Amino acid sequence: MKEKLTRSQERVLHLLQHHDHAVSAQDLHSELRNSEKSVGLATVYRSLETLKLQGLIKALTLPNGETVYSVTRADRHHLNCLNCGKSLPIDSCPIHDLGNQLAKKHSFQIYYHTLEFFGMCSQCQEESQ
Ligand SMILES: [Zn+2]
Ligand SMILES: [Zn+2]
Repeated sequence: MKEKLTRSQERVLHLLQHHDHAVSAQDLHSELRNSEKSVGLATVYRSLETLKLQGLIKALTLPNGETVYSVTRADRHHLNCLNCGKSLPIDSCPIHDLGNQLAKKHSFQIYYHTLEFFGMCSQCQEESQ
C-alpha cells in the first residue's frame, strides 16, 4: 500500500507536520517558495493528491471553496470546523474495538481507518451570533 514518497511529496508532508492547523495548497506553495528549493504549485497539488490517497493527509473544503490540508496522525480523530478549518483532536479512538471486531470477523487486515466529525467550533458559533 505504501509507495516510496518522492522528494517533493516528502517536503509537502514535512511542512504539513509542522502545522497544527489545516493549510491550503497556496499557503504551502508560498512557504516552499521561501525555502531555497522551490516547488511549483502544480507539483504541490499533485503531491497533496498522492499523500491523500495514501491516507497520510486529509483534505477539507471550506464554505468559501478553498481546500485545506492537514496530516492524519495514527489513530487520531478530530472535530473539524467547516468555517475556519480548525481541527480539535479527540483523546481516544471511539471505534478501536469495532476495528478489531471487523478485522476478526472478515479476516481483513486493517491498515488504517478514518473517522471525522464536521461542524462549527465554539469560537465560530460565537462569532456567527
Ligand atoms: Zn471554527
Ligand atoms: Zn481510530
